[in-house]
Amino acid sequence: MTGDLPRVVLGIANMRVLLLGPPGCGKGTQAKILCRSHRWEHIGTGDLLRDAIRRQTPEGVRAQSFVEKGNLVPDELVNDLIEERFDRADRPHAFVMDGYPRTLAQAEEFDRILGRNGMEMDLAILIDVPDELIVQRVCGRWSCPKLGCKATYHVRNNPPLVAGVCNDCGTALVQRADDAAETVKGRLLVYHKDTEQLIPFYESQKILRRVDGTGEVKSVLGRLENALKTAN
Ligand code: AMP
Repeated sequence: MTGDLPRVVLGIANMRVLLLGPPGCGKGTQAKILCRSHRWEHIGTGDLLRDAIRRQTPEGVRAQSFVEKGNLVPDELVNDLIEERFDRADRPHAFVMDGYPRTLAQAEEFDRILGRNGMEMDLAILIDVPDELIVQRVCGRWSCPKLGCKATYHVRNNPPLVAGVCNDCGTALVQRADDAAETVKGRLLVYHKDTEQLIPFYESQKILRRVDGTGEVKSVLGRLENALKTAN
């Protein structure tokens, strides 16, 4: 059983998946592709926080300095964002979590939020990429700042058709302030210290899968799709 419906009814058409992995492992890119092809909701706390900062909402103002320095924002701030989404009547039933949870306290709170809404996670997939590759990858990353688009590119692995311009909507691409090399190294330290604790947490729930996150976007996507088929 998974949450409120048996898996046979849900099938792959209706999954609850969480992507884990270091910054720059491809979580955002893969989450977008999976959600587009399966019609699942993409829930990325990094995107939600960047929007809040851009709009200078109270949450955005609180989160700004943490995000710009590459530190985690306080658990209760992100937990509130997630809680607000899942406690609403139009809560998602099939989704990919991208960048949440990132600490043990968030993972425990997320289980509580899902539980009181009659849901549980089907899979937590760790996208494995060695640290050496991460810095190289993140520093070449460009993204579309347009709300509702948010396409991502990489100068080498996934360049836009026209340099500096979004393929999907024609908006000028931007680089994230927290993608500078020194900040990325700090974000990797935070990942190893705080987020890796989630690996044994989801292993003990028997929903953890690992995929190799190196190589082309398409190859990693194929590995993810295979991992999805292994849900209990
Ligand atoms: P991302 O786009 O997922 O790499 O997130 C960018 C930044 O947003 C992170 O470096 C953190 O500062 C913040 N952030 C995103 N998600 C979380 C989270 N679950 N917990 C704490 N901080 C987060």
